[in-house]
This record gives sequence, C-alpha cells and structure tokens, in this order.
Amino acid sequence: MSEFDYDLFVIGGGSGGVRAARVAAGEAGAKVALAEDDRYGGTCVIRGCVPKKLMVFASEYAGVVEDAQSYGWDLQQGPFDWPAFRGRLNDELDRLEQVYRNLLKSSGVDTFDARASLSGPHEVTLSTGEIKSAKHILVATGGHPVRPEMPNAHLGIVSDDIFHLESLPKSLLIIGGGYIACEFAGIMNGLGVEVTQYYRGAQILRGFDDEARGLVAEQMREKGINLHLGTNIVDIAPAEADHSMSRAGTGSDAAMGAAAQDQMAAQVSKDAARGPVWVKATNGSEKVFDLVLFATGRNPNSRDIGLEELGVKLGRRGQIEVDDYSQTAVPSIYAIGDVTDRVNLTPVAIREGMAFVETVFHANPTPVDHSLIPSAIFTQPEMGTVGLSEEEARDKEPVEIFCTSFRPMQTAFAGRPDRVLMKLIVSKANRKVLGCHIVAPGAGEMIQLAGIAIKMGATKEDFDRTVAVHPTMSEEIVTMRTPVRTA
Ligand code: FAD
Repeated sequence: MSEFDYDLFVIGGGSGGVRAARVAAGEAGAKVALAEDDRYGGTCVIRGCVPKKLMVFASEYAGVVEDAQSYGWDLQQGPFDWPAFRGRLNDELDRLEQVYRNLLKSSGVDTFDARASLSGPHEVTLSTGEIKSAKHILVATGGHPVRPEMPNAHLGIVSDDIFHLESLPKSLLIIGGGYIACEFAGIMNGLGVEVTQYYRGAQILRGFDDEARGLVAEQMREKGINLHLGTNIVDIAPAEADHSMSRAGTGSDAAMGAAAQDQMAAQVSKDAARGPVWVKATNGSEKVFDLVLFATGRNPNSRDIGLEELGVKLGRRGQIEVDDYSQTAVPSIYAIGDVTDRVNLTPVAIREGMAFVETVFHANPTPVDHSLIPSAIFTQPEMGTVGLSEEEARDKEPVEIFCTSFRPMQTAFAGRPDRVLMKLIVSKANRKVLGCHIVAPGAGEMIQLAGIAIKMGATKEDFDRTVAVHPTMSEEIVTMRTPVRTA
C-alpha cells in the first residue's frame, strides 16, 4: 500500500499533460490523477493549433473561386458566413474535448475539473478544497497571451478571444510579428477583413531564415495585408474618447487593484470587440480600427500555484527551470511543455511528456532531443522549416546555399503572382544539409518529410541522388545543382 494517493498527479490537461497522464496510467500501469481548470485539450485543441488551422482552411477558400474560374469552372463567390463557421468550429472543439476526456477515462486516469496548486513537494490542493498526495507531480500548465504594458491595452483582444468574436470586424490592427500575428493576418485577410499589421522589428518572423521570411512578408503584402515594419503602437483609446486623456488613464489603472483590473479588462475586452479603437503609432499615424489584436507574446502559467514557495526555480519570464529530464529543483516535481519555455510547440510538449514517463516510470533516463525540430508557420503562403537558417549556419561554419524561387504551376496558370521558395543550407566540411526552408502551399507537409532525411544526417549528395517527383514544386529540393552563394 503506497503512502501516497497517487503515483503521479498531473496539473494541466493540455497536449503534454494529457499524453503523460495517459501513458503513465495506460502503459506504465501507474495510479494517475489530472486536474484541469478550463477545457481538456488545452491551448492546442481549444485556442491554438486546431481552431487556428481550421480558420486557415476557411480563409483559403477565398481565392478558390477565382482560380477555378481561370480553370474553366462557372462558379460565383458568395459571402463568408462567420457565425455559421464559428458554430461548426465550436461543435468540433466540443467533440475533440470529449475525445480527450474519454482518452483519460479509458486509460484509468482520475480527472478533477479544478484549478490545482502545489502545497507540498508531494501534495496538491484543488480549488474544490480537496487535497491529494502523489509520489511525483508533473506541472504541465502551459502559457497565456500577454498584452503590452501600456495604458488601455485591455482595449485590444488577444489570440484566445479571436475564436469567440460575435462578428468579424471590418478593419483589424494586429500588433506583433511572430508566427501567431502573421498567421492571423493571413486568416483575417482571407476572410475579407481589412488587415493592418504593425511590427516594431525590421522584419516579421524573427529567428527564421531571412530570405524565407522576406518572401512571406512580400507575399503577405501582395495579398493585401497592410504590413508596417519598424512600427509600434504608442497610444490606444476608445475611438469616441478625447484622445488627449488616454495617457491620463494610466494613473487610475495603476491605482486599481489587480483583481479589479482583471475584471475591467474582461469587460472592456468584450466591449472592444464591439466598439472601434483609436490607435497612434510610432510613425505618427493616427487611425481608427474596428478591432485591435495584440499578438505580442506569451508567458508561462507558473505564478500563484505554489512553485516558488516550494523551491522550484523560475526563470526571468516565469518559465520553470528544468534539467534534461524535465526535473525541477525539487526532485518530486517535474515540468513539461510551454510552462518550461523550451520549444513551445505541441509535438514537443508531447515528446517531453513521453520522455518524462520513460524516465520516471520505466527507470530509463531519457533526455528530450530538442535538435532539428521541423515546424510550420501557417501564413499564406505557408512556411516549413527545419534546422539552421542561413544566418545561423554561416556563423558556425562555412556553408553553401542552394536556393530557388519561382511561380508555381497551379497559381501561375490562374494568373496569380504567387511565388514559392526552396532552400537548402549545406555544410562545406561534411556536405550535411544543415537547414531546409520552404515557402509554398503545403510547406508544412513537405518539411515533415524533409525533416526525416535531415534528422538522419542526409548530405546534399543524398538529396541529389533522389529522383525528382514531377511535376511538383518540391522536386526543386532534389534538382538544385549549383550553389547560389557560399558563406
Ligand atoms: P497547454 O496546451 O497550454 O495546456 C495547459 C493546460 O493547463 C491548459 O488547459 C490550462 O487550462 C491548464 N492549467 C493551467 N493552470 C492550471 C492549474 N493551476 N490547474 C489546472 N489546470 C491548469 N503549436 C504547434 O505545434 N503548431 C501550431 O500550429 C501551433 N499553433 C498555435 C496557435 C496559437 C494561437 C497558440 C496560442 C499556440 C499554438 N501552438 C502551436 C502552441 C501549442 O498550442 C502549445 O505549444 C501547446 O499547447 C503546449 O502544450 P502544454 O501541454 O505545454 O500546455
């Protein structure tokens, strides 16, 4: 008879937490509980990857009728029905949440629909008042979007809110240049919203290959997104208000308690979805938008759940510090996924959960391999990437760059100016492909497969001796013979 109620208590029912709980209970036969204070499935299923990708699909139909007409079809474009789409989206998310609940149930995991915090190295206290003990505790609480610290920032919405809009705005300002900002710019543009995007940096998608992100930015503009680089928001206020007063609002915000501020933010955030907002930018422009979306970053959900009190170390942004095995400074407490801010992607959270179970419940210490993770950015056009960017690679060693950009057959025939890009970064020393960057429709699907070869250590010559699939866009990846430059 164990001295604990459970072998494992998981806090958070998102991508990482659900997988770890399920595998620990199912395959390893551990006695497992999981607490979730919102909806099962977490960010990915409820307010991230899944609803976002469905919105990408919805938005991509915008150009289909025109293209079909070019191919000889007699079709006419009708209006987009947001409430109808949103209803179907919600039904799908309800279905998926139920799938997650069932998976946990069928694996024998006890679930608690409650907020959990840590009250000891082996003890969890639930918002219901229940206290549970466990030999191991796994924190998989994810992260949340943050607004910039400025007066009236609560007038803008964040990505969580976008799936619940009552109606689509006529005009939308997106602040930010990361993948979430750029993806929603493409989505909303496709759905017929007039999109303006401000990003304070010199180019969107910081950290990705310069040439690839340059093409994405160019094509986003081509598709009608009003993208302003080197531009940030300096002031925001309700459109009807006396704008000279908006800065004076700071004092009253600051004097207000945190709870009151949260309450007001929730209320005003709802109102913001209805009323227009006046915005002043660093370039001096003053404009009114129906809606403002702050896509300005995410922070880990690590505060106020008892971690620091127990000696768990948090980093500057609140991320839980863990070792290669996802163990925190307190030996019985582990953490995985976005709350550790390593690589914030669903498949990575899942990998970390699996490695945790292998380490703790199969006595097989398994570090998580964070190298060469393929990923996709669902901008329009899409971008798929694995390995080093040209800029990162040439800082490390001499490289050859193979790159081609062209108009793909399908859209060129329809008369669209779309361009795609295929790029390989190759080590001069050992010929290994260090990075692959694709900007093209379906780039996410392509990079998954290229990622296998690159993870296996494929050389440029391995790519060269692979016969092309013709006629495809991706055949260029095995037919580029001469480097465009060396660095
Ligand atoms: P989460 O999935 O966030 O789950 C954490 C769960 O813990 C939540 O359900 C939360 O309610 C719960 N919780 C928090 N605190 C407590 C508490 N104290 N008690 C009980 N429960 C608690 N990744 C991709 O790979 N591909 C994509 O295309 C992609 N698109 C994205 C688009 C958007 C708009 C966003 C926001 C994210 C996207 N991501 C994408 C990232 C991906 O969603 C996350 O990396 C992933 O969900 C992290 O999983 P997790 O288990 O760490 O946390």
